[in-house]
Parts: sequence; structure tokens; C-alpha cells
Amino acid sequence: MKDVLNAPFMVEMIRTTANMYAHGWDERNGGNISLLLNETEISAYLDPTRVLRMIPTGFAAPELEGRYFLVTGTGKYFKNVPYDPAANLGLVRLADGGRTAELLWGFTDGGRFTSEFPAHMMSHVARLAADPVNRVVMHCHPANLLAMTYVHTLDEREFTRTLWQMCTECIVVFPDGVNVLPWMLCGTNEIGQATAEKMRTARLVVWAQHGVYGAGRDLDETFGLIETAEKAAEIYMKIAHLPRLNTITDAQMHQLEERFGVKAREGYLS
Ligand SMILES: [Zn+2]
Repeated sequence: MKDVLNAPFMVEMIRTTANMYAHGWDERNGGNISLLLNETEISAYLDPTRVLRMIPTGFAAPELEGRYFLVTGTGKYFKNVPYDPAANLGLVRLADGGRTAELLWGFTDGGRFTSEFPAHMMSHVARLAADPVNRVVMHCHPANLLAMTYVHTLDEREFTRTLWQMCTECIVVFPDGVNVLPWMLCGTNEIGQATAEKMRTARLVVWAQHGVYGAGRDLDETFGLIETAEKAAEIYMKIAHLPRLNTITDAQMHQLEERFGVKAREGYLS
């Protein structure tokens, strides 16, 4: 068996957590990531029949039966992942209709997956239905997106349009827009179900006064998605209190749709 710490998916996960921490998106134990893996990707590194522990999940997700996930641990700090990946990350396979996670690697100090595991797994189900090659769900606390939820209406069309107006590339990077959940208690199946419902129509879901969820085909794409929305929110927070003399018009956004071959969410542009 090859060393799993050298597996491309592991190297990328470690780099991503470190980078997110460096961006200030994951203070203390904030943030969590789950990465869907194929058995072929892991079989050179781990024996899939060797289950170290069985961990109850507290929810059902029959669509994910037998699926493998590399996931960050509960109470773990992103900043520490590069120094001790095996304690801070775990690789699990869902069994028993999603009710049990079979630990194949990691969580070496007896830990378990993120408390937001329900939101992650339910979001994977929703995104896989929309995009069969979706593999990543990422949650973090970027300051400007969070700040925006205090001063901007949470109406999804208006929130999305404001972000699109802040940087030219926004509508190209997230033409599906941003969905928004009002404040809810985190770590519960209820917020998991509500997040997954929002994930059916957009890859970005803002949790008001908390943070953001992003989904994508790989870690880079998902990081870039959140990075772009957060940049737009940063511009908004710099200008929201000033008179706005110029903006990106809907006519210009239609030009961007045509030039980059994207289609803005139905009804979001006039
Ligand atoms: Zn959070």
C-alpha cells in the first residue's frame, strides 16, 4: 500500500484547509469540508475492507450508500491540518443507508466528523442530483459575506444581483446565483435539510449571520467559487455607505452571458 498522505486528494485537501485558514475564513474550529472519493482513488492507499470504527451519523442518506468521503473533524482547527492530517481528517464510507459511517482512516485521537456532517451529506445528495460529477461541499465564515447579511436584504434575487454588480466576473463564475438561509441553529438535521433544499438550485448558500456553503466538482473550483463571492461582498462592504455613481448594468451582464456562454438564473436579469 502507498502512503495515503501522498495521495493527490489528501495533498489537495491539506493545502485547501491551510489556504482557507490563511484567508481568515476559518477562525478557531470554524469551517468544514467533505470530498467525495471513488473506491478506485483510495484502493492503492487503503484496504476498503479494513474498518477501524463504526460511527453513527444520526440521519439517513440512502443515495450515498457505499460512498467514500474525506472529511474534516469536529472541533478541529483548519490551521492544524497540515501538521497532523490523521488526527484532523477522516476517511469514511457510508453504510446502513447513510446511518453509519465506517472509518477507514484518520480521526486518530478518537474524534469524529464535523458536526455539520448532516448539512454536508444532504447537500451532496442535492448537488449530485443537479450535477453528477459534483464532489465537494465546503463551509466557512468569510467576513464580508457574513457582514453583508447584517446590512443587505436577504432576498435571494436582490442578494445575488448585488454580488453580480460588484465584479464583472461574478455572473460568469456563479450564474446560478446565491441562495440564502435565514439564521437557523447550526449542527442540526433541520439546517442540513434546509441547506440541501437551497443547494438544488445554486452552488452557493449563505447562512445569514454565520457563513457560507459552496459546492463544486473539485476543491479548487469550490474554493474559487467562495473566493469570488467573498471578493464581491468585500467590494459591497467598501461602497455600501457611499453614493453609487456607476454599476454593471443588466444589458452589460447579458453581454457577459453571451461572451462566456453562461445563462444567468431565470428571472434574475431584466
Ligand atoms: Zn460554521
